[in-house]
Amino acid sequence: MGPQRADLLKKELGIFTFVDLLNHFPFRHVDRTKLNSISDITFTTEFAQVAGVLLSVELIGQRSGKRLVAQLKDKTGIIELTWFQGLNWVQKILQEGQSYLAFGRISFFNGQPQIIHPELELLVPGGMAAKEFLEPIYSTTEKLKARGLGGRHIGKLTQLLIGMLHEKDVTENLPEPLLKQLKLISRFKAYRQVHFPQTSAEYDDAVKRIKFEELFMAQLRMNLIRSSRHRFSKGVVFDKVGDLFNDFFKNHLPFGLTGAQKRVIKEIRTDTARGRQMNRLLQGDVGSGKTIVAVLIMLLAVDNNYQACLMAPTEILAQQHFQTISELLKGVNVQVALLTGSTKSAARKKILNELQEGPIKILIGTHALIEDAVQFNNLGIVIIDEQHRFGVAQRAKLWQKATVPPHVLVMTATPIPRTLAMTAYGDLDYSVIDEMPPGRQPITTVHRYESHRSKVMDFIRTEIDKGRQVYIIFPLIEESPKLDYENLVKGYENVKAYFPEPKYWISMVHGRQPGEQKEANMKRFVVHDTQIMVSTTVIEVGVNVPNASVMVIESAEKFGLSQLHQLRGRVGRGAEKSYCILLTGSKLGNDARERIRIMTETNNGFVIAEKDLELRGPGDIEGTRQSGALNFRLASIVQDRPLLEVARNIAAKLLEDDPDLISAENLRLKEFLHYQKGNVVWSKIS
Ligand code: ADP
Ligand code: MG
Repeated sequence: MGPQRADLLKKELGIFTFVDLLNHFPFRHVDRTKLNSISDITFTTEFAQVAGVLLSVELIGQRSGKRLVAQLKDKTGIIELTWFQGLNWVQKILQEGQSYLAFGRISFFNGQPQIIHPELELLVPGGMAAKEFLEPIYSTTEKLKARGLGGRHIGKLTQLLIGMLHEKDVTENLPEPLLKQLKLISRFKAYRQVHFPQTSAEYDDAVKRIKFEELFMAQLRMNLIRSSRHRFSKGVVFDKVGDLFNDFFKNHLPFGLTGAQKRVIKEIRTDTARGRQMNRLLQGDVGSGKTIVAVLIMLLAVDNNYQACLMAPTEILAQQHFQTISELLKGVNVQVALLTGSTKSAARKKILNELQEGPIKILIGTHALIEDAVQFNNLGIVIIDEQHRFGVAQRAKLWQKATVPPHVLVMTATPIPRTLAMTAYGDLDYSVIDEMPPGRQPITTVHRYESHRSKVMDFIRTEIDKGRQVYIIFPLIEESPKLDYENLVKGYENVKAYFPEPKYWISMVHGRQPGEQKEANMKRFVVHDTQIMVSTTVIEVGVNVPNASVMVIESAEKFGLSQLHQLRGRVGRGAEKSYCILLTGSKLGNDARERIRIMTETNNGFVIAEKDLELRGPGDIEGTRQSGALNFRLASIVQDRPLLEVARNIAAKLLEDDPDLISAENLRLKEFLHYQKGNVVWSKIS
């Protein structure tokens, strides 16, 4: 291929090498291995290939309706072939009385089957009528098409390439016993058959093999990272449960722990006692009680003579954590401090000093915690609340604050579907709080059309008059902050018309406000100065106002499922019965209708996360890392869930038996992982 077209192939499809070309899989095949009898073609026939004699070729119609129509006849009937373009050229090459092979999409015109712009080949006597392979169709781009690199041409290149390859060029990377066990075809065969299968069964075999390989290699890589941390990392040791933990547990715990909380604490304790660094993801739906787990673990750290810190994504959350935790630890002899962006400089200086000297054992704060000026005496664990606001780089920065890296516990309230957790977070250890504290009243969620707004407002009034508080949330329109703002202000005026001062007070919070103003407005709501909070989604993360019992979400159809669920989690935190009202316009798309339906049917964050994954696909799920772990070419963690489970189990078992992949049959796995780009695993191990 000449340099210009090669360049275009790189730019348009990212195909630089033979390997890239091999990995540019067809998105479908058409079956040209069989001939159809014309009389067998029905309204349900999508594509057909027929062989017959060309009867007549006629130019008919005027101007734009002008077309070339030919009749092709086999033993069973006649089909029309029609061209609207290139008429002169086609007319010149068509020869009446000759035999042709015609292929194309079937349409019907006046009740007669026809093929518009068929692919046509002269049939030489005794020649092969049908193709040997299912014909692959490749994706391409307009630019490539214009330069003669359409899908068909790419197929020709691929065919040429595959013809040049031998078994040894596409080396097998899966162990023999595994191929046998799962009845997988060889890698070479799989690559050939994914492009040029002879039957659809051959194609299916190829797809299964390649999908498994993708999922399996990803699982192996993740497992290796994790197990290398388990085996080789250094970590501080929390091996004793001391006075603080015991005192708090026996004398100050305000409630009995749920089974899930106990289990998770045990998992973390085991993990932090081994002398290896813990890197763990803790998932628990909003309200599942992650804070108390964090508190107990921080006490464990302090009992072992280490400091602990807890980071929250916003100032107000950090403050709330500080209040809650100070209250919980009131009778316990441990020094807790709060450090945020707005800590005054004298106080800050004192805190920094005491952190470095050691008397402060538990530090709670925001991003300000990771400023370079913050030096710990001996930091043992970092707990990160509401993880998706924190980047990986920030986490790494914290690790540098101690010679032996502290344990890291990332707590997230955004439930991640199991399959996603396995693939995107497979290198982390993983704990789940899958049980709610007892006595929670489920939140009642209803869908109302905007036309019923005044009834909704009446309902809100009765709740407020009972002493409750209400959130009213407006969507963020990312493309237009200005429109957002106008929308919100309009909404605010509207709410105000229903709820006039001085009987009612409203807090308004939005992204355009300066930080302090935002905090001040939120605070007024938190301390019940205001009864209504009108806001864009800035409150999504974590404020705790147990007295708030109603969540109204305006234009709910504009929100994703996870987001709706997160928002709903702001209510139902107190003893009162809580409600979530999803307001929408009267016209709803199918997906939006489905989201609303799911919200009204379940409160279970994990069920919602699974549905979200199904509806949106993994690429868009919040909290998904840009790790490349999900960049599968064929596999899908939604559709191929069973295969993913198989791959995961086999990978785990295999590494248990042969953790360094040194047995003769596993060596090829090791070599393959080495060869793959971004060869993180082995550099970490060595
Ligand atoms: P989240 O997981 O969303 O951070 P929190 O830790 O804020 O949840 O807990 C939500 C509420 O549940 C808090 O008021 C907390 O005191 C309460 N809580 C937590 N665990 C229990 C429990 N085992 N029994 C009763 N209440 C609990
Ligand atoms: Mg929380």
